[in-house]
Amino acid sequence: MSARIDLEAQYCAHNYHPLPVVLTRGEGVYVWDEDGKKYLDMMSAYSAVSHGHANPRLVKLVQQQVATLNIVSRAFHSDRLGPFLERACELTGLDMALPMNTGAEAVETAIKAARKWAYTVKGVAEDRAEIIACTGNFHGRTIAIVAMSDEAQYRRGFGPFPPGFRLVQYGDIDALETAINANTAAFIVEPIQGEGGIVMPPEGYLKAAAELCRKHNVLLIADEIQTGLGRTGKLLAVEHENVVPDGLILGKALGGGILPVSMFLAKREVMSVFQPGDHGSTFGGNPLGAAVGLEALNILVEEKLAERSAEMGAYLKQKLEAIDSPLVSEVRGKGLFIGIEIDPEKGSARAICEALMERGLLSKETHATVVRLAPPLVISRAEIDWAVTQIQEVLSEMDSMRLAS
Ligand SMILES: *Cc1c(COP(=O)(O)O)cnc(C)c1O
Repeated sequence: MSARIDLEAQYCAHNYHPLPVVLTRGEGVYVWDEDGKKYLDMMSAYSAVSHGHANPRLVKLVQQQVATLNIVSRAFHSDRLGPFLERACELTGLDMALPMNTGAEAVETAIKAARKWAYTVKGVAEDRAEIIACTGNFHGRTIAIVAMSDEAQYRRGFGPFPPGFRLVQYGDIDALETAINANTAAFIVEPIQGEGGIVMPPEGYLKAAAELCRKHNVLLIADEIQTGLGRTGKLLAVEHENVVPDGLILGKALGGGILPVSMFLAKREVMSVFQPGDHGSTFGGNPLGAAVGLEALNILVEEKLAERSAEMGAYLKQKLEAIDSPLVSEVRGKGLFIGIEIDPEKGSARAICEALMERGLLSKETHATVVRLAPPLVISRAEIDWAVTQIQEVLSEMDSMRLAS
């Protein structure tokens, strides 16, 4: 066991269960451990590293900006914030944005916007606004956000929780219609559930949800912190169904794999509920983060990373589907956002990830049964071929061990 792992175990809260590898360097789709061993990163920090590790354009830009201006707070304007938010609005079809740092903060911002919109625009009585979320959701870890979760471990020991949230079955459009009432402010949804295990709703679900929301004067808020920015083969996953939500949450890859950068975007009618002093963040929208965010968006567009994700994702999925293993019950996903469902009677996703790590491929299980593959969007066909060979061999080894025992 590495001394660095022991040191972390002694001083860092045990709120994660990392694979036993100590990373010291990253470049493109690769990372290296403390012994110099090279790994193909097919996790990319839960999709935060879509641009690849130490993307050269981003590194160059950070070096310039870091020596120029970094943090000023929103007590003043900066030359970096406007151009960043303008580009984000142009690309997403929304009117205004509120910059934050982490995903959870942007989700909290969306909840606050939806509630205030309900009171000041829709006319819901004070403190009666309701937000509908989905079973199996993941929107972050704050108290209000775990109040929306149905995952026992996210909640256990952390109550009491704020009221005003309702859950409906993910993918069930009738359940959504039944749950909507006069106090409903918003429906918040992931186009594909990432932490839930790369779970895809039936085709047409988002489109139908958007129509229901419009009919009942309810805001549709898409949490695209993980699915957004090219991950599923379109710039936004809602584009697969031609939906423009009323509110949109971005994070993770927005920071180019370098910094935490997030935002809540919305139509003008929604964002206009915020008055000076209503909400804020010391670091949100800082010049360094804004410069990185703008360059991250420009790289996505100029280097056609969404198109690349669609093409490479289809290639990876087709190769995974061709693997004939009794351990695999399903391969699902869109773009470079793929889950391999492991039959829990026959294998364990964790054990597969550990065996892949030994072979130089990093991935991470979600829940006990899904191996998630979400590499940087710059991955090549040859790298995918190599990865699929490793996966195929690990599955076949595990199957032989299972049959022998
Ligand atoms: C990761 C994630 C979040 C939370 O983002 P943090 O930066 O970890 O706070 C919220 N929603 C979704 C869909 C995510 O994948």
